[in-house]
Amino acid sequence: MPSDVLRIALPLPLPRLFDYLAPGGDPMGPDDIGRRVRVPFGPRELVGVVAATGPAAADAPALREAVAWLDPAPLLHGELLATCRWLARYLHVPAGEVFATALPAALRRGEPLPDTTAWGWALTAAGANAVAGLRNGARPRRLAEALRKGAVAEDLLDDRIDGWRTAARSLEERGFALRVAIEAAATVTAQPGPAPNAGQAAALEALRAAEGFAPVLLEGVTGSGKTEVYLQAIAERCLAHGRQALVLVPEIGLTPQMLARFRARLGVPVHALHSGLNDGERARAWAAAWRGEAQVIVGTRSAVFAPLPKPGLIVVDEEHDGSYKQQDGIRYHARDVALVRGKALDVPVLLGSATPSLETLHNARAGRHAHLRLRERAGEAKPPRVRVLDVRKRPLQAGLSEELLAAVRTALDGGGQVLVFKNRRGYAPVLLCHDCGWSAACPRCSTPERAVPMTVHAGGRRLQCHHCGTRRPVPMACPDCASLALQPQGVGTERIEELLAARFGDVPVLRIDSASTRRRDGLARELAKLDDGPGILVGTQMLAKGHDLPKLVLVCVVGIDEGLFSADFRASEKLAQLLIQVSGRAGRAERPGEVLLQTHHPGHPLLEVLVNGGYRAFADAELGQREAAGFPPFAHMALLRAEAQQAGVPDAFLRAAGEAFNAARGALPPEEARSLLVAGPIPAPMPRRAGMHRAQLLLSSPQRRALHAVLDAVVAGLHALPEARRVRWSLDVDPVDLY
Ligand code: ADP
Ligand code: ZN
Ligand code: ZN
Repeated sequence: MPSDVLRIALPLPLPRLFDYLAPGGDPMGPDDIGRRVRVPFGPRELVGVVAATGPAAADAPALREAVAWLDPAPLLHGELLATCRWLARYLHVPAGEVFATALPAALRRGEPLPDTTAWGWALTAAGANAVAGLRNGARPRRLAEALRKGAVAEDLLDDRIDGWRTAARSLEERGFALRVAIEAAATVTAQPGPAPNAGQAAALEALRAAEGFAPVLLEGVTGSGKTEVYLQAIAERCLAHGRQALVLVPEIGLTPQMLARFRARLGVPVHALHSGLNDGERARAWAAAWRGEAQVIVGTRSAVFAPLPKPGLIVVDEEHDGSYKQQDGIRYHARDVALVRGKALDVPVLLGSATPSLETLHNARAGRHAHLRLRERAGEAKPPRVRVLDVRKRPLQAGLSEELLAAVRTALDGGGQVLVFKNRRGYAPVLLCHDCGWSAACPRCSTPERAVPMTVHAGGRRLQCHHCGTRRPVPMACPDCASLALQPQGVGTERIEELLAARFGDVPVLRIDSASTRRRDGLARELAKLDDGPGILVGTQMLAKGHDLPKLVLVCVVGIDEGLFSADFRASEKLAQLLIQVSGRAGRAERPGEVLLQTHHPGHPLLEVLVNGGYRAFADAELGQREAAGFPPFAHMALLRAEAQQAGVPDAFLRAAGEAFNAARGALPPEEARSLLVAGPIPAPMPRRAGMHRAQLLLSSPQRRALHAVLDAVVAGLHALPEARRVRWSLDVDPVDLY
């Protein structure tokens, strides 16, 4: 007689559950669903989550026993468990992989749910007597002074004293300070915010009126006071009623400055969840959310999986931001998951942006989302003036015109700061032989038909491929003709920095790129070098958002012309958002800002519409074109990608998949079948990358139902195709990038 078994979801790319006997032959039942359990798998052990329990199949092979329970009670339960299961079905990925994505790394590895006591530091009696004797100005002295009136929470020390942990250890060694558990509530008193202006008041009123689930688009330019609306809504809706708020921000928007603003204004601990934390810190924040202790959780993409046992509000700041879409593994979109959770939890979801995605605008127009606007900049700030600089036939140095350089000089002389935005890292995008025309191409990404240039870095000493990371030194001579006339062509941020530093030697010139900002607080540290005086920042889209720059008076945008002619149907939307976001950084304080858009295509419709009509006019025009062309948001898409070492192999797999999709389409009602397009196999926009040959198959339909019906019918079976063994494939439901 087969006994009951645990049906376990494991983090493996296989669309099935795995059966095990309970550890030690324990009794089990439906109450165990959502508990983590360690199981033997081949020679290894894996951590899985119980997805179901029930009788073993009569013909089941000999079952193995699970090693151990990892949780006394289900870790995933209720809404979060249901959302993960829904997401697995929607994205057509195994539930075990979604569970693994939802859990922080330490819990995924099987560590216990950590202790979430709030910790702080306090002076001992000896320490209180010794404060005056500590060296003036040194960190231990500053820390001791901060602790004089009583214990202070660690997250507040993070905000107040740079490098306080070393100082704390030094005080502790001398018996002057102690780490103590503190009352989470007793951290700081909330600072009052400004009185809401009319637009903010209307937005807050609409949120007050919302009962249960309500998706709300809050559209307002940078500086119009959206964050104030979030803060007041959180205070009213959540903190006043003991409910939790989840705030998602883009990767680049989560600055120490912003966390400090939330803490100061809300007067409660703010739990951060982002990739800059170590595993232990992340697991603690997640656990605090799980226990309902974390009242405000602010985090980047994966924070959308924070448990919310006492939900009050979900906010997605800069909802259009590309970092919300996970581009590998489980390809979820955090904004969409936030909406699904808001519905399941029956709470409002506030989507904020100066440049809402066309998906969200479309939903607002169709009446599915409420649409609120903040039309003016809050406080005193004036909107920036935008000027298009026509540089046709003008001499350029490092891609910059004299007129632009003169404007930089004027801004610096007035004591202002300047941002020069160029969306290309490195020194130059191409290395060219002036004698024979050879150019450096990436050996792992190029094909005979299509050379992928390597970017020149490190002032001209190194070549690097931005697609696969391959690096090599710049050759001494041309490998084809032995000429020494190798010249960097085109302009990247390094080259602009070089020119600006030579030209404006009297002010700091800082280049901001992903390397300088990878470390936690990296960007803040860099920007601190500017102090409050005149200076220049050079960078890519890293600079479009994030740290507040009150002294910024001039934003120069250069080298956007290739973006105007991209083949990708989302390129215009991304470029328009980027231009508006970068421009929005100018003139946030009392001074008016100016934006210079340098281009060889001053008459391009995208620029004309944006400059004269703003984002709204652009979005209207673009939505019209998308509708005419049958692109999202008027169609729903899924992209099947395949890659292999050998050319031709991805195509064979995709052809077999395409046949399966076409067969499934035939089973749909005729009208749905007609609406569904199966296109491909077609070469990927990058047909080769990092040595792999790549191709794809695109499914598209104006009816989501039709698309998902064929996905439901086919995707699980793709694993079993003989061709599947020779490729790496993945399905991207609602793809953002078509490569
Ligand atoms: P956003 O999130 O839209 O960029 P913020 O909420 O950060 O805008 O507001 C921009 C600036 O204006 C901040 O310095 C903020 O303190 C200030 N501010 C916001 N709302 C008001 C208001 N009602 N009255 C005065 N100042 C305000
Ligand atoms: Zn040559
Ligand atoms: Zn490459």
